[in-house]
Amino acid sequence: MYDGIVQDLIDEFGRLPGIGPKSAQRITFHILQTPSFDVSRLSTLLGDVRDKVHFCEICGNVTEQERCSICRDARRNQTLICVVEDAKDVSAIERTREFRGLYHVLGGSISPIAGVGPDDLRITQLMQRLADGTVQEVILATNPNLEGEATATYLSRLLHTLEISVTRLASGLPVGGDLEYADEVTLGRAFEGRRAL
Ligand SMILES: [Zn+2]
Repeated sequence: MYDGIVQDLIDEFGRLPGIGPKSAQRITFHILQTPSFDVSRLSTLLGDVRDKVHFCEICGNVTEQERCSICRDARRNQTLICVVEDAKDVSAIERTREFRGLYHVLGGSISPIAGVGPDDLRITQLMQRLADGTVQEVILATNPNLEGEATATYLSRLLHTLEISVTRLASGLPVGGDLEYADEVTLGRAFEGRRAL
């Protein structure tokens, strides 16, 4: 335990996901002991990310404008939508360079235990996007775990009423895992081998 501000900063870093007490202490001392460390830049970015970054009005991806760069890009295949749980999955899939369509970020997955139901996700917005008939295929790329599968099943039933082909990423993704942690090759292959639902 340290006194005052030092401990306060360690505690604050320790509240961040993935940062344990030791890392929190290491980061704090790095800032303290490195004169060249640009504290003002970090604090500006922290303020900016909260003030200037929000979610794309179409797909729910993160952006500094009303629409994200993917939705603004006319070269993207407008007939394909890949449905993911969260914005981190968009960047994981973009890294594979396997997919040139559009995305739809749900903002989570159906989880009765966590009290998340279909109404808590951006499903109405997805249905609105599909209404004009432009989209011909919806790829369900929710995580290969219990909640992700439940969400994919729910969506595939819902989408069955429309004349749109619905596919799910191929197996090969680690079951119980998170899409964002899958390596690019595995994720890329999962796209190629997606199957119809
Ligand atoms: Zn977008």
